[in-house]
Amino acid sequence: MQSVRGMNDILPPESARWHALEKTLRRIVEQYGFQEVRLPIVEQTAVFARSIGDLTDIVQKEMYTFSDRNGELLSLRPEGTAGCVRAMLEHGLINQLSQRVWYQGAMFRHERPQKGRYRQFYQFGVEAFGFAGPDIDAELIQMTARMWRDLGIKDVELQINTLGTPPEREAYRDELRKYFAAHSEQLDEDSRTRLEHNPLRILDSKNPAMQDLIANAPRLTEHLGADSQAHFQGMQALLESAGIGFVHNTRLVRGLDYYTHTVFEWVTDRLGAQGTVCAGGRYDGMVAQFGGKSTPGIGFAMGMERLLAMLEDQPAPPAPAGIYVMPLGETTLLEANALTERLRDYFPDLPVLCNLGGGSAKAQMKRADRSGARIGLLIGEDEQLERTVTVRFLRDDRAQQTVPLTALQALLQAEFGQTSAL
Ligand code: ATP
Ligand code: MG
Repeated sequence: MQSVRGMNDILPPESARWHALEKTLRRIVEQYGFQEVRLPIVEQTAVFARSIGDLTDIVQKEMYTFSDRNGELLSLRPEGTAGCVRAMLEHGLINQLSQRVWYQGAMFRHERPQKGRYRQFYQFGVEAFGFAGPDIDAELIQMTARMWRDLGIKDVELQINTLGTPPEREAYRDELRKYFAAHSEQLDEDSRTRLEHNPLRILDSKNPAMQDLIANAPRLTEHLGADSQAHFQGMQALLESAGIGFVHNTRLVRGLDYYTHTVFEWVTDRLGAQGTVCAGGRYDGMVAQFGGKSTPGIGFAMGMERLLAMLEDQPAPPAPAGIYVMPLGETTLLEANALTERLRDYFPDLPVLCNLGGGSAKAQMKRADRSGARIGLLIGEDEQLERTVTVRFLRDDRAQQTVPLTALQALLQAEFGQTSAL
């Protein structure tokens, strides 16, 4: 049996890298006041269709949709924002109140699998509700910049753009449609199908033959009203005050319909075509679209596999080196077992293993070494009689020591520092 195409197993030692990454991201978002939400992986299809947009690639071609045994149309979540808005409204969490939440977990899209693009992939994301001004836009971006800094990720560039308000975008969409229609002989097939409903997406085309046409297209920024301009300028001033560099990419439109005003992406040229490691933006209309009281929202999501690929050349975090207890001979197992449990009480954050399945001293020492432990504790028949234990230093060149059981705790505390619960 094999896993489903595009869906990966995450195994040790790779899983330790995931854990370390998640720990850093979580520490940072919590420093900025975000709290965790854990939401269902399956939602009613309408939750996604209505918010992401009926005509987007995600809803039209990428969702895993099925009807369950009651005939309800359900989908595996392709992203986290829609379900989050659904949950906030269902539980009345954003009436008059602002909210900052974060999530992480598996998302599902039926795409062509390649490096950095999978059918089950993991996102870490945040959403903030109830903040209308550009200050939260800048704060979200500052938070991501801090993540790159703390993770040691260097080769990423921040691209920002504004999509204005829906009426501004509507007017622009008409103008863009006219422009591309006047040059329809230069459009590829994909773009022709987008011309009618989604001409903005043509700006996003990677087709080299269309790049001149796109470069000369009218720009949304020039069609924005004063409020939208001020929002965008305000965010840029805040980013500058925090020392964060950016590029204004007027072609950045994002693949989801729900965005307004600020959109941004962190991109790298290190990952080929899968160059966006984090993407987000403002979605002021979505809460009302779900039937709630109009509430501004903004969020981002990052692709964990792509971040890990950026971190590939960093050494994996070392497994914590702990203690390995070895019962030698026929009679020492019960005592070794009891000792191991006592040590687990004393050192709740250290791996403490007892050799299982018996074996010669040599075989047990080999396993102790392979376990990564720093200290081996031998209990043979002599030790048992004398109420002692033999301490082996597995990672450095120090002579073994036989100490009374009563002195063991102090010795281990000195070895492992302040990790003891006592
Ligand atoms: P792309 O342009 O690469 O398809 P997207 O615009 O569809 O990305 P979003 O919906 O904005 O992506 O998701 C946010 C982030 O999640 C992306 O920037 C990327 O890092 C990651 N991501 C999206 N789709 C996948 C996938 N199929 N496999 C792995 N990571 C993904
Ligand atoms: Mg995509």
